[in-house]
Amino acid sequence: MVDRSFLDWPFFDQRHRALAGELEDWAARELGTVDHGDPDAACRDLVARLGRDGWLRHAAVDPEAPEAGLDVRSLCLIRETLARHDGLADFAFAMQGLGSGAISFFGTEEQRAWLARTRAGTAIAAFALSEPRSGSDVANIEAKAIRDGDDYVLSGEKTWISNGGIADLYVVFARSGEAPGAKGLSAFILPAETPGLEIAERLEVIAPHPLARLRFDGLRLPASALIGAPGEGFKIAMSVLDVFRPSVGAAALGFARRALDAALARAGERELFGAPLAELQLVQGQIAEMALDVDAAALLVYRAAWAKDSGAARITREAAMAKLFATESAQAVIDKAVQIHGGDGVRAGHPVERLYREIRALRIYEGASEVQKVIIARQALASAVEGA
Ligand SMILES: Cc1cc2nc3c(=O)[nH]c(=O)nc-3n(C[C@H](O)[C@H](O)[C@H](O)COP(=O)(O)OP(=O)(O)OC[C@H]3O[C@@H](n4cnc5c(N)ncnc54)[C@H](O)[C@@H]3O)c2cc1C
Repeated sequence: MVDRSFLDWPFFDQRHRALAGELEDWAARELGTVDHGDPDAACRDLVARLGRDGWLRHAAVDPEAPEAGLDVRSLCLIRETLARHDGLADFAFAMQGLGSGAISFFGTEEQRAWLARTRAGTAIAAFALSEPRSGSDVANIEAKAIRDGDDYVLSGEKTWISNGGIADLYVVFARSGEAPGAKGLSAFILPAETPGLEIAERLEVIAPHPLARLRFDGLRLPASALIGAPGEGFKIAMSVLDVFRPSVGAAALGFARRALDAALARAGERELFGAPLAELQLVQGQIAEMALDVDAAALLVYRAAWAKDSGAARITREAAMAKLFATESAQAVIDKAVQIHGGDGVRAGHPVERLYREIRALRIYEGASEVQKVIIARQALASAVEGA
């Protein structure tokens, strides 16, 4: 039985505890039989069901009341719970938020019409930032958006785009040229049916989900597709990542809790040398480290979420710490769970084998662990200078 005592921590209000309970029941009812054989079909189905039953309302702002913002604690609780039950369900939920995040926080009233659809699960969203030569180095984006009368003309490539190939809406970041580097990027809404958008390649990864490389060749977008002001693209992307990075930590936490739960069950059941595995002190040491990692990750994730919900303008440091620690420690927790399962732990399709594959990409996307370390160090150094 998964430990849910963290819900009593002071980061949460009563409504969060109620939400976690309702989602637990929903997930137990709805996610037991997700067929991962066709990730495109599974994601479409999951988005539709998450939308139908109201969960996607927590992934984007209310288009009628955007000033209320997003409740980051709810976002994280939902991701943690979904990830614990089914990694693809978490993915489907998360991408509706990340993909529409720029519209949630910077969109006009007209642009926010998309949110009614992403929140209902009737439109699938994608976030198109990375390029073949610009992953960690976002300021190096090469895709171009050139103003031509009332239009922007887009040319270039995006890669590693989650939901690429099944999305109805892509938020694309491209170089509009107001200044060199980070200050010369802008964000655009690109509806999937726009002529000139090519799904150049579908990408397969170790934990399959819809993923693609996109190509634009002279694709025309009206100026009304621009999100925010020209040149604000980098700021927009980083603000969206600030909010969603703790939620990547939350998903990792969900995976880690599932792994710990499985390891506890196995250590209690499995007889070795005439006694349960759990009686071996080296195994107890592993379990202690796993439990400690899970609680420490939860503290960092929900500290970051609580700080944002309490009115912090930016949570760059807290978000980076939450993502870095929760994803790295989840990898370690899952690895120990595999070890405790012995040979069964590496059997294709075993829950801990699936977790072992599912956790890996979280240490790379939305800023690799090394990038999070650089962010944390810069913040620490800046506050040391301010305090001097
Ligand atoms: C499964 C998956 C889904 C993704 N989904 C999306 C998506 O929906 N939208 C999107 O835009 N992108 C997405 N990405 C792309 C992801 O954000 C990039 O892969 C990531 O930013 C790393 O970029 P890169 O792959 O080009 O690696 P590189 O930038 O080449 O980095 C390689 C490695 O270098 C190291 N490194 C990087 N910076 C530093 C540093 N400052 N100091 C020391 N070491 C460093 C890190 O270990 C890093 O992993 C996804 C990626 C994956 C794997």
